[in-house]
Amino acid sequence: MPADTDLGGKVALVTGGSRGIGAATALRLARQGADVAVTYAGNKEAAEDVVRALRALGRRAVALRADAADAGEAAGAVERAAAFGDGLDILVNNAGVGLLGPLEGLSPADVDRVLAVNVRGVFLASQAAASRMTEGGRIITVGSCTALRVPGPGATLYAMSKAALVGLTKALARELGPRGITANIVHPGPIDTDMNPADGPYADGQAAMTALGRFGTAGEVASMVAYLAGAAYVTGAEFVVDGGHAA
Ligand code: NDP
Repeated sequence: MPADTDLGGKVALVTGGSRGIGAATALRLARQGADVAVTYAGNKEAAEDVVRALRALGRRAVALRADAADAGEAAGAVERAAAFGDGLDILVNNAGVGLLGPLEGLSPADVDRVLAVNVRGVFLASQAAASRMTEGGRIITVGSCTALRVPGPGATLYAMSKAALVGLTKALARELGPRGITANIVHPGPIDTDMNPADGPYADGQAAMTALGRFGTAGEVASMVAYLAGAAYVTGAEFVVDGGHAA
């Protein structure tokens, strides 16, 4: 991987930046020079901790409460971030919910909830960002290894939602390419976060399915996102950060 790109003067929005992969991504982008806005759903304290850490790096930072399940808030977060930064250069669509379970147990409300956060929220934020971004804009979406390969039962709804993001990413790349804006998707494998703790009940099986035999860290995903934030000739592409889960 090339040397870290200097993101000084850039403004990034990381959705779901209060914890896990989003928090690690916000910090990574800030370490490379970006000013960063993060959204959170309900965990204000965690979001404020992240903002303190970002400011300690000398960056401008803000935490925005914005529920990605709400259409107005999903798009509104982009407008608020652009107002904070006087423009927007990098959108990281990271906020997501993981709802796993047998097919017969999933209700229409479950389907609506997961698609609202994992798909509609990403679409609306990307749409709002595209209208704000100029040449050099970056849209980076966090998908999942289950968009590529589903290793067992219980993932119908989650895998469907993440697979939809692959189509969105490729279509965004085609639509925004002529304006010099890129769109890419990163597919994490099992990553040790609150959503999927490395000491959780299903962790051993997930680790065993990887070639490396372990969970990844949020920072290992963040470094791929940061690479894409600097990559000018990469678009419409999928990047797998899964320790060989799909090998
Ligand atoms: P965490 O549960 O650790 O963190 C989720 C983050 O998203 C939090 O900041 C949370 O905010 C925010 N969030 C959740 N729901 C909403 C919402 N409705 N609106 C706004 N923000 C919301 O998750 P991870 O870091 O593990 O996951 C991040 C992304 O990576 C997700 O898209 C997930 O699907 C994907 N992923 C994760 C994998 C893993 O193994 N961990 C594997 C593959 C993909 P708050 O703190 O306020 O709750």
